[in-house]
Amino acid sequence: MTALYLPPFVRLGGGALNDLPDALRLAGLKTPFLITDQFMASSGLLDRVSTLLHEAGIELRAFTDAVPDPTITSVNAALTALREGRHDCVIGLGGGSPIDTAKMVAVLAVHDTTPASLRAPFMQDEPGLAIVAIPTTAGTGSEATRVTVITDETTDEKMLCMGAAYQPRIAIVDYELTLSMPQRLTADTGTDALTHALEAYVSRRASPFTDALALTAMARIWKYLPAACTDPGNHEARAAVMQGAFEAGMAFSNASVALVHGMSRPIGAHFHVAHGLSNAMLLPEITAWSLPGAKQRYATCARVMGLAGEDDPDSVAGAILVDALRKRNAEIGVPSPRTFGLNAARWDNLLPLMAEQALASGSPANNPRIPDADDIIE
Ligand code: NAD
Repeated sequence: MTALYLPPFVRLGGGALNDLPDALRLAGLKTPFLITDQFMASSGLLDRVSTLLHEAGIELRAFTDAVPDPTITSVNAALTALREGRHDCVIGLGGGSPIDTAKMVAVLAVHDTTPASLRAPFMQDEPGLAIVAIPTTAGTGSEATRVTVITDETTDEKMLCMGAAYQPRIAIVDYELTLSMPQRLTADTGTDALTHALEAYVSRRASPFTDALALTAMARIWKYLPAACTDPGNHEARAAVMQGAFEAGMAFSNASVALVHGMSRPIGAHFHVAHGLSNAMLLPEITAWSLPGAKQRYATCARVMGLAGEDDPDSVAGAILVDALRKRNAEIGVPSPRTFGLNAARWDNLLPLMAEQALASGSPANNPRIPDADDIIE
């Protein structure tokens, strides 16, 4: 038996945002509270959503101070603002950060608990308020996942929190909202999505259902991400990467992520490297290290991404995949942790703690080749 977690109400494609009032109506939701960040508030997108809802007879209250890599402090500030009204759902509008803030706020609004006590392996399945996700980046797939990632700023720990309660009820997946993303953000978030697809496919918890989503996602993202980066107004490329990110989110939420994400979270938390960028830095080398654990699966990835042929032996196809990931990183300007300019002494000091935090998240145990702390440090 496979338990599947998917958003029940989805609007996918250009202009999907206009369907928000109808999706709320079908889901029986009437009094939303919206969480977003300053950029979205100043870009006019928040006004557009407010107007859409106003015309449907819904008055919106909003919190506009969500921060990148959401912290417990910012979650608590949003929760306080939500409690000043009466709401049946929380809308997250923006990248993964406002959406993840909305997810945690939706749970804390109903359950008397703290983010720290909700960290994995705890599973928060008892529902909170309904969650509505409107992504404006094509990367995290948070609109599709039963996951939220909250940083405890007192310990610099990015806490993975999981459970059915974080599963959005409505996902509005409108690629037009990503047209404003600059090149660096497009590349980093797109590589985050590619990593979700690859990790879901090689995960020890993959299933035939997640395989289908992961393979179609990696093919789509690999093909279209370069055009989305170099030609930001390319609707075909933006639509494909957005759809791929959504598919990859459904895939990893029902399989898992693995070693890249396990190691990427501590780098993001301690050194404030954007999530997609820290994934991108690690992806080629961790793929190379993991190859012996899933030769056939990595070879299949190389084939569906159009890198290797059916006649290439699996070991050759796997090596081709690693080379292509390294080359892609060079093309889109992804530095290594060393060349990124991280404080080298601090990095060396923190390695044992980062390895411990990576292992504690549980993600490395889903990797096809399972590391110990020494492997992670190396
Ligand atoms: P983000 O939400 O942190 O946004 C980064 C920056 O991009 C912000 O300044 C934001 O204002 C800006 N931005 C967003 N959309 C834009 C647009 N259309 N045009 C121009 N600028 C835009 O970035 P993200 O990568 O989407 O999210 C990262 C967070 O998501 C991390 O905390 C990560 O851990 C988390 N995450 C969550 C999941 C999940 O399943 N819940 C999965 C992966 C990552």
